[in-house]
Amino acid sequence: MEIIRAPEAMAEWTAKHRGTGASIGFVPTMGALHEGHLVLVRRARKECAKVVCSIFVNPLQFNDPQDLANYPVRTEADRALLEADRCDALFLPDKAGIFNDFAPRHYDLGGLDGHWEGPLRPGHFQGVVNVVERLFFYVRPDRAYFGEKDRQQLAILQHVARALRWPERIVPCPTVRENDGLALSSRNLRLNPAERAAAPVLYAALRRLAEGGFAGPMEARLEQARATVHREPLAQLEYLGVADPVSLAPLKDWPVSGPVVALIAARVGPVRLIDNLTFGPDGPVEPSA
Ligand code: AMP
Repeated sequence: MEIIRAPEAMAEWTAKHRGTGASIGFVPTMGALHEGHLVLVRRARKECAKVVCSIFVNPLQFNDPQDLANYPVRTEADRALLEADRCDALFLPDKAGIFNDFAPRHYDLGGLDGHWEGPLRPGHFQGVVNVVERLFFYVRPDRAYFGEKDRQQLAILQHVARALRWPERIVPCPTVRENDGLALSSRNLRLNPAERAAAPVLYAALRRLAEGGFAGPMEARLEQARATVHREPLAQLEYLGVADPVSLAPLKDWPVSGPVVALIAARVGPVRLIDNLTFGPDGPVEPSA
C-alpha cells in the first residue's frame, strides 16, 4: 500500500491509474479504524480496481474543541488494517495541504441540516461537505463509500452530489454493530467499562421503536422508546425521533407506507453517540446492501 501525504501526489496517483482505465473507490475516514470502516474498504475492493482510504481528522466538522482534542489517533494500527484488506493507497494529508489556497464555501444543504445533528452541531455539516469536496478534488474517485451509521451526513452528501452534479457516485453502506447492538464508532474507545456496558441502550431504544412498526400513535410510541434511555443512569438523551428517509424531515404521524428512519443521539458519560434504524409498517427493514 502506498502512503501519500501531499495532495498533489494523490492527484497524480489517481491520474496515473485512471490513465490505465482503472476505476477508483474511495473511503474517507477520520482514522482509529474499526470493522465499520473496513467493511467500506472491502466493498470498494469488490467494486473498484483501485481503493484509496483517507485519514484526515477534519477540524472544520468539530464544533466542540474538546471532542477534537480527544479524537483517537492510531495511524500505525490503521495502516496495518488497511494493508490486510488490500487497500492500494492511504491518503494522509495534513491540514496545511488540504487547506492550502482554500476558502470554505457555504453549501446549500437543501434544509437537510435543519434538524437532528444540525442545530446541535452548528457548522458541522458545512465542515463535512467542504472537506469531502477537497478530498474528492484530489482523489477524484468514481465511487465513494459512506456509512449509514452517519445517516444525516449521508443524506446531505447525496443531496449535494445530486445538486452539484458531482461525478462521484455516493455509495451507502449498512451500519456495522457489536454483538450487543452498539454501532461501531471510533468514539467508543473513550467509553469506560461501565459506560461501554450502558452504550447499547441507544440501539435498544431504536429496536423497541422499530419492532412495533407503525402501530399506535407515534408520539406515545416515541415516549416508550425514550423511556428506555431515561432508565439508563449513565445515558443522557439528546433526541429520539422519526424522519422521512430522504429529506430527514421529522414526522409527527406514521406515513401511509414506509419506510421511515428513527434517529437517536445521547451522551453516555462524556461521549456523544448517534445511531439510527430504518423501519416500515411491520418493523425493521433489512440493511440496504
Ligand atoms: P469516521 O471515521 O467516523 O468519519 O467514519 C468514516 C466513514 O465510516 C463514514 O462514512 C462513516 O459513516 C463510516 N462508518 C463509521 N462507523 C461505521 C459503522 N459502525 N458502520 C458503517 N459505517 C461506519
